[in-house]
Amino acid sequence: METKLLKGIPVRDAVLAELKAKMARAPRLPGLAVVLVGEDPASAVYVRHKEKGCEEVGFHHVTHRLPADTSETALLALIAELNHDQAIDGILVQLPLPDGLNENRILMAVSPEKDVDGFHPVNLGRLVAGEPGFVPCTPKGILRLLAHYRIPLAGRNVVVVGRSVIVGRPLSLLLSLKRDDANATVTMCHSGTKDLTAVTRAADVVIAAIGVPKMLGRDAVGTGAVVVDVGINRIDAPERKSGTRLVGDVDFAELMGHAGAMTPVPGGVGPMTIAMLLENTWEAMCRAEDWDDGT
Ligand code: NAP
Repeated sequence: METKLLKGIPVRDAVLAELKAKMARAPRLPGLAVVLVGEDPASAVYVRHKEKGCEEVGFHHVTHRLPADTSETALLALIAELNHDQAIDGILVQLPLPDGLNENRILMAVSPEKDVDGFHPVNLGRLVAGEPGFVPCTPKGILRLLAHYRIPLAGRNVVVVGRSVIVGRPLSLLLSLKRDDANATVTMCHSGTKDLTAVTRAADVVIAAIGVPKMLGRDAVGTGAVVVDVGINRIDAPERKSGTRLVGDVDFAELMGHAGAMTPVPGGVGPMTIAMLLENTWEAMCRAEDWDDGT
């Protein structure tokens, strides 16, 4: 069986092109503030990608790089300042935060109207209720990617492996909404799931958001099923000059020729996450300005 690759970069490019076209009519520049605390190398790479995305579409952006020993009081003061900054429409606190900082308390401090990551309980509540709000970028990007490649979800059996508040849980909620691009029958799995392989093998669509390199192989996926790999794991690769490479949560080589369609890592879900962050920032500006962008 030929496995169709669901590449994220062309879809990301289309989203960015649409934003650039809208920018020509914008009342002002949308603004994104990114807060990076500490020296986590993966976080530093993600933040650079976000800065590059802003530059590509011409958004105003500011990155606050703070030392790992920043106090919670100082971080909360910065967020309060950004909440009141009229040039800033979106605030993103890069996770994970260093030990000693209470992630929940920090995320709760971001104004829900500037919470372009969609992690504030107000926005998560809006998602549960099916009300408009900011939807977390990775789940939103996965739905957009599947819609672009015309992968139907309505009525299909979708299994999400992972229940994090960032990916698995909001994604499961989103997939279950009564909307044309969702309406799936959703099963959310986790480390307590019994016989995970049997559950995933019965799925029409398997979405892996686990954080374990190459965990799902051929035995865990039915022939012809659609596979979305959210995982980004750096593993040793002595054959490479850098000594490492990125792999997902599914065994890409094993699933080639077995899955009906599959996202690559890198170049699948990752680029969609950034595109949705920019789209959410655009939407935040439109709401702040009470601007109808015609979509
Ligand atoms: P996380 O917070 O660590 O959550 C992982 C989930 O997987 C948990 O629910 C955990 O279950 C479950 N899990 C772990 N081992 C399992 C096992 N053996 N069997 C079944 N379930 C298992 O991770 P995350 O933040 O959701 O991220 C997941 C992956 O996606 C990571 O590789 C991350 O780097 C990547 N990611 C990618 C993007 C992107 O833009 N592409 C964005 C965000 C994250 P328990 O709840 O029971 O512990």
